[in-house]
Amino acid sequence: MGYKVAIVGVTGEVGKTFLKVLEERNFPVEELIPIASARSRGKKITFRGKEYTVRALEDFDSFKGIDIALFSAGGSTSKEWAPKFAADGAIVVDNSSAWRMEPDVPLVVPEVNPEDVKEHKGIIANPNCSTIQMVVALKPIYDEAGIKNVIVSTYQAVSGAGAKAIADLIRQTKAWCKALEERGLGEEDLSPEILAEIQAELPPARKFPHQIAFNALPHIDRFFEDGYTREENKMLFETRKIMHDNNINVSATCVRVPVFYGHSESISIQTEKEITPERAREILSKAPGVVVVDNPAENEYPLPIYAAGKDEVFVGRIRKDRVFDPGLNMWVVADNIRKGAATNAVQIAELLIKYGLV
Ligand code: NAP
Repeated sequence: MGYKVAIVGVTGEVGKTFLKVLEERNFPVEELIPIASARSRGKKITFRGKEYTVRALEDFDSFKGIDIALFSAGGSTSKEWAPKFAADGAIVVDNSSAWRMEPDVPLVVPEVNPEDVKEHKGIIANPNCSTIQMVVALKPIYDEAGIKNVIVSTYQAVSGAGAKAIADLIRQTKAWCKALEERGLGEEDLSPEILAEIQAELPPARKFPHQIAFNALPHIDRFFEDGYTREENKMLFETRKIMHDNNINVSATCVRVPVFYGHSESISIQTEKEITPERAREILSKAPGVVVVDNPAENEYPLPIYAAGKDEVFVGRIRKDRVFDPGLNMWVVADNIRKGAATNAVQIAELLIKYGLV
């Protein structure tokens, strides 16, 4: 038995990864319907060795017959079109933030709250990438020792801001290297003055308010009056919804770094009960979707370059927190496009089949 699966946003970073993940996991796709904006109408994509033509949303009179629609085309597209798919009988799994906090839309991470998919009314939301990897790592600790407070700092890859953001990092890095070469500069010649001169010549980033190459931007999404950003608030409110616990507090600082794929997070956790790093390592090693890489003596800890292209959440540097007592500190890394978006959504679609909801 196969399913008719639409991918909305198929030409984007997440959309392209949907195709890979569906193939790799051998998802029972009987018919694929690739969709993007009118700009991509007529483009060709390949799935399981077969070529498909991309269509625009406006090309459809009806979405009847579609079983599952995987959306990754931004919030406004989702707000307008997801209800139309749902009204025609499809179950939408949406990657944007448009529906996440709606009370009747489940927000699901399969390793944490799989049963919530059963409550769907046509739309299921995929959480924010930074939240997904954090809750996968927190859940086993929560079950063992309870969690009161979390302080997290993120180091987020440019791919989290889409295909144009990846292009920004490539263009600026190339321009930077070219400027050094043209000036005949080696490492002994560098100074803040020369760097400032080169910076002034770099092509401006299209997706970021500042230079992204060789920089770190403590700014993801828009700022609120209290000084936190929308991305930082997502880490608080989405965590509470997924964990079904409104008492957990999360104070986040989200930072964009010049990494292509893979978000990293430094997480301090105040637990309810004492839990030793050894015990945390033991339970995390057995937790679904988690790989513990924690041998600092051999320089072994999770790194975004190794997490890229993988579906698991990697956890390391597990140690007793020096401020929170009882508490733990750890370093958590995952591919933001895979576990942070496409893989999590495909896992949700797999749950729909498992629970006989589709
Ligand atoms: P992207 O690379 O910029 O791709 C955007 C996709 O949306 C493209 O396929 C684009 O089609 C399509 N699209 C844009 N406007 C559309 C419209 N009016 N109608 C139909 N399709 C339209 O972005 P992305 O990184 O894949 O992210 C897509 C969504 O997933 C966003 O909502 C994002 O917040 C969410 N998300 C991303 C990540 C991540 O880490 N990247 C993680 C979680 C969630 P064209 O090529 O035709 O323009």
